[in-house]
Amino acid sequence: MKIMKKRVYIIYTGGTIGMVQTQKGYAPQQGYLGKKLDAIEELKAEIMPEYVLHEYIPLFDSSNISLKEWSQIAKDIESNYHEYDGFVVFHGTDTMAYTASALSFMLEGLGKPVIITGAQIPLSQVRNDALGNIITALQIAAGYDIPEVCIYFNGQLFRGCRTVKTSTDSLDAFQSPNFPALARVGVNIEVEYNLIIHNTKEELKVIEFGDFPIAIVKIFPGIETDVLSNIMKPPLKGIIIEAFGTGNIPTRDENLRKVLQDAAARGVVIIVCTQCLKGEARIGIYEISNIFAEAGAVSGYDMTKEAALAKLYYLFSKGYETEEVKRLMEENIRGELSKN
Ligand code: ASP
Repeated sequence: MKIMKKRVYIIYTGGTIGMVQTQKGYAPQQGYLGKKLDAIEELKAEIMPEYVLHEYIPLFDSSNISLKEWSQIAKDIESNYHEYDGFVVFHGTDTMAYTASALSFMLEGLGKPVIITGAQIPLSQVRNDALGNIITALQIAAGYDIPEVCIYFNGQLFRGCRTVKTSTDSLDAFQSPNFPALARVGVNIEVEYNLIIHNTKEELKVIEFGDFPIAIVKIFPGIETDVLSNIMKPPLKGIIIEAFGTGNIPTRDENLRKVLQDAAARGVVIIVCTQCLKGEARIGIYEISNIFAEAGAVSGYDMTKEAALAKLYYLFSKGYETEEVKRLMEENIRGELSKN
């Protein structure tokens, strides 16, 4: 009896994974990756799923990804949702964590795996990490009950909205600093099923992000209040402040208090994240952080900046009032935040 093969829909956006060397450096080449994949025997093996490759035109370096492409990926998943067992997205590594966070929020009620992967060395090179990432991403998307948006890279499967790019030159390009890997891939694929989120919603619904004016600002010793004040001018709607440690900021300049409070009075949502890779920002641990509390800012806890940004777009796009956006920023929605 012939066993029905699982089916995976691959969305190929661009990125190193399919790039070729040109005189100006690595660049994607239309049509190249599909032909390369067709010639790979391992992908035809009995245990591998069938796949369809949907190549974007044009392909792009992920530095150029924006809200429009996030919507396109989400809508492509939605329109093929019932025909496939899982989805793989080939994506450049530079902004992969942003896209993973965005899709986590956009794909409401997701019930199938969406596995984003890429490579540090393209498939066009003899020694590459692309092939291993592709094979395992396809296997996970086809055969595992992991209905989340994830990044698979170099032997680890991470929750998308927990992941950050931490290396430009290691094959271990990603980490999930505040949450364990959902699966580790060695001789076997070991899934931590107790960590996997299963949705209670029945139908997939795409929440497209509106183009809201949002900023991320990193605090540094000596930052001038004017810099912050200029960024916080209208039409800004939300700002993620990458503060020191657990959520601290220089307070010697008395004007800062007024800048924060005026922005908050205009309805700007202020989220305080930590610039540390690990751990959380929580307003009120240090006295100095109370300047944020006085302006009604909220704590980002252990969210990555990528997740905080995507979540802010999502909450604004859902049309919530400012106070509700602030409340939900501190709640766990897609597994992006832990608050002990
Ligand atoms: N610049 C590339 C990109 O993000 C890097 C990569 O894919 O690794 O598209």
